[in-house]
Amino acid sequence: MEQKPHIALLPSPGMGHLIPLAEFAKRLVLNHNFSATFLIPTDGPLPEAQKSFLESLTPSGISHVLLSPVNFDDLPDDVRIETRISLSVTRSLPSLRDQIKSLVSGHRVVAFVVDLFGTDAFDMAMEFQISPYIFFPSTAMALSLFLYLPELDSSVSCEYRDLPGPVRIPGCIPIHGKDLLDPVQDRKDEAYKWVIHHTKRYGLAEGIMVNSFKELEGGAIGALQEKKPGKPPVYPVGPLIQMESGSGDDGSGCLSWLDNQPPGSVLFISFGSGGTLSYDQLNELALGLEMSEQRFIWVVRSPSDTAAYSSFFTVQSKTDPFAFLPKGFVDRTKGNGLLVPSWAPQAQILSHRSTGGFLTHCGWNSTLESVVHGVPLIVWPLYAEQKMNAVMLTEDVKVALRPKVGENGIIGRVEIAKVVKGLMEGEEGKQVRTRMRDLKDAAERVLSTDGSSTRSLDELAQKWKNKINYEN
Ligand code: UDP
Repeated sequence: MEQKPHIALLPSPGMGHLIPLAEFAKRLVLNHNFSATFLIPTDGPLPEAQKSFLESLTPSGISHVLLSPVNFDDLPDDVRIETRISLSVTRSLPSLRDQIKSLVSGHRVVAFVVDLFGTDAFDMAMEFQISPYIFFPSTAMALSLFLYLPELDSSVSCEYRDLPGPVRIPGCIPIHGKDLLDPVQDRKDEAYKWVIHHTKRYGLAEGIMVNSFKELEGGAIGALQEKKPGKPPVYPVGPLIQMESGSGDDGSGCLSWLDNQPPGSVLFISFGSGGTLSYDQLNELALGLEMSEQRFIWVVRSPSDTAAYSSFFTVQSKTDPFAFLPKGFVDRTKGNGLLVPSWAPQAQILSHRSTGGFLTHCGWNSTLESVVHGVPLIVWPLYAEQKMNAVMLTEDVKVALRPKVGENGIIGRVEIAKVVKGLMEGEEGKQVRTRMRDLKDAAERVLSTDGSSTRSLDELAQKWKNKINYEN
């Protein structure tokens, strides 16, 4: 049997959670001589991006196994993602048992790590006497809410958005119920029941790693680390981000374009791996950018309500996001702006010296990438826990500006131009920029050899290594 300590990791589907979990595993392998296996639930062939990402980990000692595909034919089309993720785990349990059985026969498996909706897999870990852990790939604020949610659930009877006052998540800035994460917005939906189910099981974990750090979320982390019976220890190990994205190939032309722009002059605009805007909102954003007269790189996607406009566009234009932009916009902004369809090398763009601001949907990976590179934000939350992130980044951490939504539910061009100009040239921009630079320095410190996140990880690694010594 291999003597190295080994960890098994079960990520939920999609890249957003896999990337930080892989960074976590890499550090254990490189700095602490662990080996690791990802156990991947599937509902069909693995998406290409995920496949090549997992294959790229193999040389560093991180292998992966695909669990037998589960069947979702019985689920309604509008099933929420949290329900789907939870079921992908419960329906994979028989296959997971087989894989763990084979893993423990050849390795010293010291920990079994799931991410936020994977707690049902703990049953398998415990069957094989492996310590269960959670890697929480989002904010300490969301984790603090999760640990508080069972209590909130039993004390509140209405929808949280109908509460007269703000919700007081331990250690966090008070937040309106309507800004809490999506799956808790409809308490009758299955997704909410799944969230409650998981949060009640968080106490089974022997520890929870969170992708954040004290200088970013001091209040929430302080509250999380207060000892209470039944509450697992919390290890802030962030910011863990993907440092190099892909092969470094600049097929989009973004990096060479940036090379020719003045330092700190470009606003990067992206709504993550899946975010889309309505047709009307896309148009206001375009016109607002134009009015701001700032340089920009914009990752443009076809609008979310494409179907509603199908009669106005040819079949070809439906797959060409630029066809939805205002007439003449592409020509008028040539030189000042670069439009990229669908996907851009975000990590490299944020680390480029010409990038001076990031208009983001507030996905936590995107936010942490911006923090690590010291790029101040304009927050434009769309889904998941992004509204909570936006409130925290704007009102608490103060590294972001936020445009106001108009009465018609759309952010208008004048407001967009004002906020973009404000970030890139205004006094308010200077303040958030300075604050973001301080945070960048803090992020560097916590990840240095003696930094707090490195020490959290060292502590965990030692705890896990001791399990082997104890066995021997
Ligand atoms: N990303 C990218 N190029 C794009 C859009 C996204 O490289 O055009 C990467 C981004 O750098 C981040 C991840 O995809 O690492 C998005 O994760 P995040 O948590 O921000 O948002 P999600 O996509 O999960 O909503």
